[in-house]
Amino acid sequence: MVKRKEKPGGFTFTYKPKSKPINTKLINEKEFWSLVDVKGVDECWLWKGCYMSGGYGNFHDFTTHTVSYIIKNGKIPEGKEICHKCNNSKCVNPNHLYAGTHADNMKDIHKKYIHKKKWKELL
Ligand SMILES: [Zn+2]
Repeated sequence: MVKRKEKPGGFTFTYKPKSKPINTKLINEKEFWSLVDVKGVDECWLWKGCYMSGGYGNFHDFTTHTVSYIIKNGKIPEGKEICHKCNNSKCVNPNHLYAGTHADNMKDIHKKYIHKKKWKELL
């Protein structure tokens, strides 16, 4: 089974969504989309700006996928956080994002991690 505690520098469950509400007036849509590699509707749109330590895009200290979701949907449903359907943390395509619970998100990350680990074992 997967151990929760890994050696320093290894995989840790440290990703925490921003708990403070995003002031949507601070979001400059033009500026945001100018930093996105916009592609087809079903493709991953990669963030071209800077990144946070957790691998998520950083737009004025907000995670970029969250900003993208808010631009499209107005706000995040209470108690939910924005997750990727595509498991690509660099992706900000609103069609690849959904509002889920923290548990949903952790399940996704866990699945992804197990998948990676299996590959490592095979190599
Ligand atoms: Zn994607």
